[in-house]
Amino acid sequence: MKACLLRAPAAIGTNPLEYADVATPQPKSGEVLVRVRTCGVCRTDLHVIEGELPPRKSPVIPGHQVVGVVEKRGEGTQRFAAGARVGIAWLHQTDGTCEYCRSGAENLCDHPTFTGYSIDGGYAEYIVAPEDFVYAMPAGFSDEQAAPLLCAGIIGFRSLRLSGIKAGGRLGFYGFGAAAHVAIQVARHWGVEVFASTRDVRHQKLALELGAVWAGGSHDEPPMKLDAAIIFAPAGEIIPSALKTLKKGGVLVLGGIHMSPIPSFSYDLLYQERVIRSVANNTRQDGVDFLRIAAEIPIRTHVQIFPLREANRALNALKSDAIRGAAVLRVTE
Ligand SMILES: [Zn+2]
Ligand SMILES: [Zn+2]
Repeated sequence: MKACLLRAPAAIGTNPLEYADVATPQPKSGEVLVRVRTCGVCRTDLHVIEGELPPRKSPVIPGHQVVGVVEKRGEGTQRFAAGARVGIAWLHQTDGTCEYCRSGAENLCDHPTFTGYSIDGGYAEYIVAPEDFVYAMPAGFSDEQAAPLLCAGIIGFRSLRLSGIKAGGRLGFYGFGAAAHVAIQVARHWGVEVFASTRDVRHQKLALELGAVWAGGSHDEPPMKLDAAIIFAPAGEIIPSALKTLKKGGVLVLGGIHMSPIPSFSYDLLYQERVIRSVANNTRQDGVDFLRIAAEIPIRTHVQIFPLREANRALNALKSDAIRGAAVLRVTE
């Protein structure tokens, strides 16, 4: 099969993904083989490719927002019929036995594996995954539209949940890429006002089109104090500015898997019971809940399509803020 391989981490400007022929994987017991139709491009892929996350497998096929159809079922599988349209996300598998898994926090599992990082991902014509960690994809979304729901969508949704925001509340977004452009649609559905701070004026424009009540630069102060904020940009230096915008007791959620160093700041910014918390992965329940609400609203994703062989170009565009919404690789018809 065709796949994009990363042999060793390198700057995306050097186009490190190699479009190559590799053996098609075969499903083991409990796994399904999925023929990939589309795969979303996520900032986490950039962190894997550029080595900001320590390498776990080499070579590795990146990609963890996979939409495809079940091609072949491994021994003992029964959840999906051959030909069913499914989604595969970042959490490839958990041990199911650690204290976190047993307490309903499998996103924090002690022994997780991750799609497109510790296990080969979806920048390829085929992928295998345990059927228990595969999502049924709701109808009503094209393969291209559906791909960004699987990480940008689910992680944005978990970030919204952890922010504690409620109807009538005011919520700040820092960075307005793939995750934010989906999360704003959920927030508005809940009756929340969104204030978007992002360095790129094209992204500010998209935020306003999607119903943000205000948009400005990364360090511009919104016109009023906010109940909560989510930082989607991987930029630790935003944290003090974001804290300044919060009301007493406000919650600041860090939505990324990697962030540049956080500068020191005065305790005043945090005092009055403000909270900073990170988001790590998601539970399967987050995914199921989000896909249901995404179909109900319904969410409309803005996507920019690239062929699989041009994954490097898609990632370079993401790095330079040139993607409006989400980048998606078209893999097979
Ligand atoms: Zn576990
Ligand atoms: Zn992701």
